[in-house]
Amino acid sequence: MEKKNIDWTNLGFGYIATDKRFVSNFKDGAWDEGVLTEDSNVTINECAGVLQYAQTVFEGLKAYTTEDGHIVTFRPDLNGERMEQSAKRLEMPVFPRERFVEAVLQVVKANAAYVPPYGTGATLYIRPYMFGSNPVIGVKPADEYQFRIFTTPVGPYFKGGVKPLTIRVSDFDRAAPHGTGHIKAGLNYAMSLHAIVDAHQQGFDENMYLDAATRTYVEETGGANFLFVTKDNKVVTPKSSSILPSITRRSLVYVAKEYLGLEVEEREIALEEVKDFAECGLCGTAAVISPVGKIVDHGKEICLPGGMEKMGPITQKLYDTLTGIQMGRLEAPKGWIYVVE
Ligand SMILES: *Cc1c(COP(=O)(O)O)cnc(C)c1O
Repeated sequence: MEKKNIDWTNLGFGYIATDKRFVSNFKDGAWDEGVLTEDSNVTINECAGVLQYAQTVFEGLKAYTTEDGHIVTFRPDLNGERMEQSAKRLEMPVFPRERFVEAVLQVVKANAAYVPPYGTGATLYIRPYMFGSNPVIGVKPADEYQFRIFTTPVGPYFKGGVKPLTIRVSDFDRAAPHGTGHIKAGLNYAMSLHAIVDAHQQGFDENMYLDAATRTYVEETGGANFLFVTKDNKVVTPKSSSILPSITRRSLVYVAKEYLGLEVEEREIALEEVKDFAECGLCGTAAVISPVGKIVDHGKEICLPGGMEKMGPITQKLYDTLTGIQMGRLEAPKGWIYVVE
């Protein structure tokens, strides 16, 4: 298959339309079969539920070219399962996870010419999403929905090398207890925009959100989970019902235990104890792990000694092992890799 003429190594993280996208509509209580289409525009009524009351959820995952030239995706079943949970929480119909996986594989295959070659560091980002599409003016769930998946090639996350991030403890909250922090919904991002613009204006890369009820415990950033490493090489990650269950974080926890033989703790982490950690990273599909070098808590600087200049040694091992699995250089646990072609 002929690849598109794209400068893969200089791609950023932006939208580039590819040839095909998947669309399925929910009407009269059922999803239709779904089709691949070349039309990248969505046409909906001015009063559509998504436009008035933000009834929309999404997912994000990637397709890669492995060392031996196959196109694969990483644990799409978990994205499908998570999207089911997200939809339920917003009173939307579930797009079944088996159909979700099928559609992901179908749309990646149809855009195989856009999957970056092995070794470029670039990947094909896959964006499944769903929204209320019929007119809704009284506040209630929509009756009709559209589920779509588009793909877009994205560049290597660490272009020009890894630079550890400087983040701040935010005065804004991301998620309320018993709220929607644990689902992947656009509404969580809309309300984080002010906090991130403000953080950037103040010279920080990201916000560290604390638990909204007590502002004592570490939760996550706007779009990634935390992973810490103690001075005696234990991996520690926050446990809370209001953080988004990152598939990358869950995979790294498995890798830490089963591939690297490290001890892992998933528990509440007080902001107070962060100063004692050796390394800190942000986990998500986009970067796998971005190292954090410094956390600023209202003028008080917490420096992570293991990762001020580059990735800390344990973070690096976790990163190398998981990306090795994804790129087919290391044997993957059963069921993690779905081969597209
Ligand atoms: C998507 C997302 C993550 C990362 O999840 P992955 O499944 O690892 O990509 C973390 N936090 C939030 C708030 C997210 O929306």
